[in-house]
Amino acid sequence: MTGRETRVLHGISAAPGIASGPAFVLERQRLRVVKRHLEASQLDDEVERLREALADSFAQVQELRDMLAGQHEDPQEILEAQAEMLRDPSMMDDPARLIRGELINAEWAVAKVLGQLRALYDNAEDVYLRDRGEDIDHVGRRILRNLAGQDPLLGRIPAGVVVVAHHISPAEMVQLHRARVAGLATDVGGRTSHTALIARAFELPTVLGLKEILTAVEGGETVVVDGLAGDVVLNPSDEELVRFGERAYRLALVEQELLKDRDKPAVTLDGTVVQLMANMELAEEVASALEHGAEGVGLYRTEFMYMERTALPSEEAHMVDALKVFNGMGQRPVTFRTFDLGGGEKTSELLRIPNEDNPALGLRSIRLAFREEAIFRSQLRGLLRASTAGRMRIMFPMISGVAELRQAKRMLEECREELARQGHAVAEEIEVGIMVEMPAAAMIADLLAKEVDFFSIGSNDLIQYTLAIDRSSELVNYLYHPLHPAILRLVRSVVNVAHDASISVSLCGAMAGNPLYTLVLVGLGLDELSMPAAAIPRIKRIIRACNSSEAVSFAKDLVKMDTVELAEEAVREMMVSRFMLNLDEDRSWEVDMRPNIGTHPAAPRVSKRAEDDPKPTSGRRGSR
Ligand code: PEP
Ligand code: MG
Repeated sequence: MTGRETRVLHGISAAPGIASGPAFVLERQRLRVVKRHLEASQLDDEVERLREALADSFAQVQELRDMLAGQHEDPQEILEAQAEMLRDPSMMDDPARLIRGELINAEWAVAKVLGQLRALYDNAEDVYLRDRGEDIDHVGRRILRNLAGQDPLLGRIPAGVVVVAHHISPAEMVQLHRARVAGLATDVGGRTSHTALIARAFELPTVLGLKEILTAVEGGETVVVDGLAGDVVLNPSDEELVRFGERAYRLALVEQELLKDRDKPAVTLDGTVVQLMANMELAEEVASALEHGAEGVGLYRTEFMYMERTALPSEEAHMVDALKVFNGMGQRPVTFRTFDLGGGEKTSELLRIPNEDNPALGLRSIRLAFREEAIFRSQLRGLLRASTAGRMRIMFPMISGVAELRQAKRMLEECREELARQGHAVAEEIEVGIMVEMPAAAMIADLLAKEVDFFSIGSNDLIQYTLAIDRSSELVNYLYHPLHPAILRLVRSVVNVAHDASISVSLCGAMAGNPLYTLVLVGLGLDELSMPAAAIPRIKRIIRACNSSEAVSFAKDLVKMDTVELAEEAVREMMVSRFMLNLDEDRSWEVDMRPNIGTHPAAPRVSKRAEDDPKPTSGRRGSR
């Protein structure tokens, strides 16, 4: 322990779990090209600085290749192209000539040379050439970072640390996951930001929106991240460390207890079946999905295929990735959502995503896919080529109207026909569905339902767009209310419309993985809930302990309430008294649960019929 005082900071609980470790502070400045004129006497040193930065860049590319070896096939080729670029004598000679000729610093010279090179590729229609242009940018940024003395490789972060940063992007989360860090604490970010969702998927204890942790923490000091309570403790006393240790141990026991139901169906005491599916970002999460008893994948966020890569994924890369998922999931359904990039958070340097004042309302998701049609078609073709290996569902995000949906379906159909002509096998039966995550889509759900096989309600965006609350802002996070009467009405109406049209309806936003809302969602009639895999056992325990008739009447009463406060109070009271959710201790939505739920004296005993039904058929019986 250092002599510093213990300090507790309160933030937003983003992913449950308790972690402690030395703080690893990630302070990265924005990359700016500093332009300086030099004296003649400084030129030799400057050229030497350039030489060293090139050598470091080359070594890092090699290291990255080793890190990714065996995980993705095509980066090897791309990184080899980058290494080649860095080995090319002109990469040293051209900027060195500018340094000496124009008496300018190395950063400026590199930016000039690479800028000219980049311009050659800028207007290229050919996707391959554009890829190469992106490679130049990547190589350029790497050299500039090395000149500035910044480490460009987040993957160098040691295992077991608690990462402290202003912000971590979804793409960087992948690197933290692979580096096996213990926890994460950031100054900004909301509960349903993509960073938070991914933290949950990776089971990385995370607290966001702490506002001042970067200034409060000292690198290397012990930090405890309490992802359940949303607290971060700096420099804890020995007693506090013991207390947190006990809490973590108790949570582990609860997890163990919940996992006993892994192979049992999510069926209510009166026989209503709800499919519990996993949300996934990377194929490597399949193992966790199966360990937690997922019955399929309800949302595979394929946009992660465009992150942490140095070039666009090829058609084959999409196919190989989908095959990996099918390989693990067997004949369970897998819902591949076509890329949902943009919107401010989910960025990729591989596509031309503009900087907009209002990115959530801008060129995001399916709109971006239509503009980058060749890239979109390449994804569709890749997915279709994997379709015979499993039960494929394809889902389009951010659909706002029928014409947009038809355009996406037409492209899918054209890709299918093209593949058939080229002799590729494509499955006959592929379900096609949409995310219902815009109020517009919810309002015209009856029209959309005629065109698709399923709906999946994206509550994160539906809430964002309905209540006009930036989902990634910690400043308006307090207004993010899944139980707002407007949201409950929209969900109820979409479910009813879907059932009238005899299509299934899922909910795959963060609401699905929060035990507080399980009874409500069962009562509203969702056929399927899709969530981070680790949340499945808790949700299943509640479903197995409730009656769908009680859930339906509870949801009916709830929808009639005129304020969100009343609805929240009613849900809390119900879930604490009837399902023993432990809200007090955690002060959090991602609640703790005692192991004995379902055997609580107030809870009806699990019926023989439900126990006897190990493989229920999908869909809500008798509700359509
Ligand atoms: C949603 O909006 O609820 C959703 C599941 O999609 P994403 O969080 O990826 O935007
Ligand atoms: Mg969404």
